[in-house]
Order: sequence, then C-alpha cells, then structure tokens
Amino acid sequence: MFNMVVFGPPGCGKGTQAAKIVEKYGFLHVSTGDIIRRQISKGTAMGQLLEKFTARGLLVPDSIILKEIWRFALEHQYEKGIIFDGFPRNLYQAQMLDRIFNKKEMRINLVVSIDVHEDELMRRVIERGKTSGRIDDNAEVMHNRLLVYFSQTQPVIEYYRKNKRLETVHGIQPVEQVASHIDAALQKRLSI
Ligand code: AMP
Repeated sequence: MFNMVVFGPPGCGKGTQAAKIVEKYGFLHVSTGDIIRRQISKGTAMGQLLEKFTARGLLVPDSIILKEIWRFALEHQYEKGIIFDGFPRNLYQAQMLDRIFNKKEMRINLVVSIDVHEDELMRRVIERGKTSGRIDDNAEVMHNRLLVYFSQTQPVIEYYRKNKRLETVHGIQPVEQVASHIDAALQKRLSI
C-alpha cells in the first residue's frame, strides 16, 4: 500500500492534484474538508457544531477528524493507496496519524507540499467562491484560514522533512506542470 498527503494552504490546488493522481494510480482520495461539508449539509447537531468552526475558518476538533480518518483508513486498508487531502492540519494530527498507522503496519510514504504565495491564494479562493457555494471561500474567512494555516498547519512540514518524507513542489505553474512534478516525486518513492 502507498499512502500520501497532498499538503498546502487553502487554494494551493490540493484537490485538483489529488484528482490527477487518482486518475493515474487508482488510489483513493479522502478530503477532510469534504467529509465536514457532507456532515454540515445533513443538518444534524454534529453538522451544526462543525459549521461554527468552518464558517470562521477555524479547525474543527482533532478528535472528530481523527475518528473519521481512522474509520476511512481501516475500511480501505487493503486498497492500493490513499491520498490524504486537508489532513493532517496540525502537529498533533500528524503524530496521531503515524501512531494509528503503526498499529496496522501502514505508513505515510510521501508528503507533497504545494507552495503558493499568499496573494495568489487569496485571489484563487475569492475566484472559487463565485461558484463553489462555500461559506468559507471569501476574503474575510480566507484571512482567518491563512492565519490558521501559518500558525498551526505549516509547522507540520518540518515534521515530515525531519523524517524524510517531504517533497516540495512550486504551485504557481500550469496544473499539468505541477502534476508532472508530483508524479516524479511519486515515482521516485514508489521505486524505493
Ligand atoms: P478544506 O476544504 O480542506 O479547506 O477544509 C475546510 C474546513 O474544514 C477547514 O477550514 C476546517 O474548518 C475544516 N477542516 C478540514 N480538514 C480539517 C482537519 N484536518 N482538521 C481540522 N479541521 C479541518
């Protein structure tokens, strides 16, 4: 099994790139943002709670996310691979992911960090907001999402760099070019 994380700030292209990898390698794609939005759309008490965080650009509680991820990973442990998108979002989630994977002799083989500067991220998310219908794709909430990214999520990069699973890709180039850099990183790891 080959497991990877597509990592980066909101608007860097994680979802787009994950879809390309799915197409080529047949891995499964799990987006924690999508899981949360599905819960919110059900209108349950849990959904209403999650919406309070998401609408303000804040991370939802780790315990909720980890439960969903663990359930997904257990259910799909015999697949070719999983692409995690939007997870892990802080150091605790990254450490817990390794810990729960260890128990099943699974591991994260590769983390691809897509690098895009702040102005471009803001521009892309505002543009996406015109059609996405997402309550958090606007300048005000995006401002918070970026603050959360830089304070809580970005430190995760160092965690993966230290244990040599990190590859960084420049994200301001045509989608196909970003995809081919990711593909090269993936091929390199698959051959190890
Ligand atoms: P995304 O679609 O990945 O941008 O996620 C949208 C929102 O869902 C985030 O702003 C958070 O409120 C929440 N979310 C997604 N993934 C996580 C995660 N791994 N940990 C905590 N909150 C998350």
